[in-house]
Amino acid sequence: MSETYEKAAALIAGSKRAVGFTGAGISAESGIPTFRDPGGVWDKFSVSNLIMRPHKIRQNLLEAVDTLEAAEVNPAHIALKDLEDMGILKVVITQNIDDLHNMAGNTNVIEVHGNLYRSRCKSCGRKEKLTRDQALARIRARLKERFLNPIRLIRAYPRCRCGGKTRPDVVNFGEAVQGLPEAYQASVSCDLMIILGTSGKVYPCAKLPYEAKKRNAKIIEINPTENAFSDITDVFIRAKAGEGMTMLVEEMRRGSP
Ligand code: NAD
Repeated sequence: MSETYEKAAALIAGSKRAVGFTGAGISAESGIPTFRDPGGVWDKFSVSNLIMRPHKIRQNLLEAVDTLEAAEVNPAHIALKDLEDMGILKVVITQNIDDLHNMAGNTNVIEVHGNLYRSRCKSCGRKEKLTRDQALARIRARLKERFLNPIRLIRAYPRCRCGGKTRPDVVNFGEAVQGLPEAYQASVSCDLMIILGTSGKVYPCAKLPYEAKKRNAKIIEINPTENAFSDITDVFIRAKAGEGMTMLVEEMRRGSP
């Protein structure tokens, strides 16, 4: 085990209020493409792609539904649940909409960009969780209609009990993020932030690690290709989230009496 892992494991073992801050990369090992990596969502649904190959939209969306349906929690999600069970991790702040932290069993997950499997009423604002299978079956059915109608696609989920139309409870470009006060509070009161799989390019959430650092929290970042928060990380581990977190938890267990 390298010195880097030992140092990170010691920081985790000494933490009383750790927070996980995660992005698309943590779900890459679950088979869900990231946003900006090559072949990711940005490429598939780029404006040039949509203009040049409109016939591919339906196919790309159907493939995305299949991918989401097949996605299972991976060792990184499980490691965050293990840290919660050990009494170390208090909150997960995620930019992901894929529900995998909840599926792993973490109990305090702040989904700043919403959750794809939750509907939100456009009239009364009520939110309701669907099962992943229910939600994806409804989206798939709309995608298979003869004419692909974006409005019908957005309204794929059942009407609210008030009778209002609903939409997936996800944050689109230009919309306000969700749970920001709670995410801010968790960031300024943690003693350790573990950053997994984010390019740190989406604001305002990319500021949260800086708020944590300002209050003297330690920062661990795991990423296979970049050290997005290089100016504030105490330990950077160049690895996939699942591999890195598994080794860290193993190292901690080895080190504990
Ligand atoms: P991003 O695509 O901008 O960056 C992904 C980051 O993950 C990169 O830094 C990349 O190096 C890293 N990465 C790739 N594979 C990894 C792995 N196996 N382990 C650890 N890190 C890995 O993602 P972002 O910063 O989260 O911002 C994109 C936005 O797109 C977010 O707001 C998110 O809501 C959304 N998004 C969500 C999902 C999802 O819910 N799973 C998927 C794609 C995009």
